[in-house]
Amino acid sequence: QTCVLVGAPIDSGKDRNGCLMGPDALRTAGLGPALESLGFRVTDLGNLGPAAFAPDLPHAHPHALNETVAWTRTLQDVAEQVMSEGVPIFLGGDHAMAMGTVTGVAAYAAQIKRPQFVLWLDAHSDFHTLTTTGSGNLHGTPAAYFTGVSGFDPFPPVPYPVPFANVCMMGLRSVDPVEREQIHKTALRIHDMRDIDENGVVKPLKAFLEQVAAQNGMLHVSLDVDFLDPAVAPAVGTTVPGGATVREAHLVCEILHDSGLITSMDLVELNPFLDERGRTAHLMVDLCASAFGRRVFDRPTRSYL
Ligand code: MN
Ligand code: MN
Ligand code: MN
Repeated sequence: QTCVLVGAPIDSGKDRNGCLMGPDALRTAGLGPALESLGFRVTDLGNLGPAAFAPDLPHAHPHALNETVAWTRTLQDVAEQVMSEGVPIFLGGDHAMAMGTVTGVAAYAAQIKRPQFVLWLDAHSDFHTLTTTGSGNLHGTPAAYFTGVSGFDPFPPVPYPVPFANVCMMGLRSVDPVEREQIHKTALRIHDMRDIDENGVVKPLKAFLEQVAAQNGMLHVSLDVDFLDPAVAPAVGTTVPGGATVREAHLVCEILHDSGLITSMDLVELNPFLDERGRTAHLMVDLCASAFGRRVFDRPTRSYL
């Protein structure tokens, strides 16, 4: 089996820069060799760039709209194409990346007539539209875009929206009031941290994966660094206390591997500028390795400090 690494140093989804270094930090932390050691053939497409775009004004609201639209176009095309070459792992870049990656893989799923599912691992629901966003940061909008919510006018239309009922969000603990209001009107499956505290990750995840398997679905996993607790994953601009532990996150990934259902994955929001000696990059690589079959017993001994 082949894993295709796709670098997407998109940094336009918010004001603070640094995620542009994410793909190279993930490579430096050994993502390629980790996947090879698990028996995968790894091809690396290098880092993509946005399609041509008109310059954005410095303090526009939303922030960097033209650049983000341009990235979305590039990523939609590449994601759709690369699906026939293996399992793509998209290396972000901030979470605005998912506007392109998810719509792109969903277009491929539509071609081969299979339903698309998304597992969203994040502190945030990222369910704003261009009109509801208070911050103007477009990394707070991808989930509304790829589910086909209106209000994304300069963005390409979404011919194959992912149905709400096919999206499972885990780890939420920072949802804006407007997002909450909108989410309640949908069939999105939401497991916030309170839910995980009480019930753990296993039951809700397995229930979702059963649904994916029953419908012969394609499964895209979108892993935002801030799904994790900032104490173990500091390299992200939007830290929220009370996140997933190292073991909770690994268990999610291990169960995902057991399911055999992952068809594509995002690793997003890593800001290496905020990291401590690469520990967050290493953790993201280790989680990805778990998602692709590394067992607890096989984890290499490594000092992060
Ligand atoms: Mn920026
Ligand atoms: Mn996010
Ligand atoms: Mn987040």
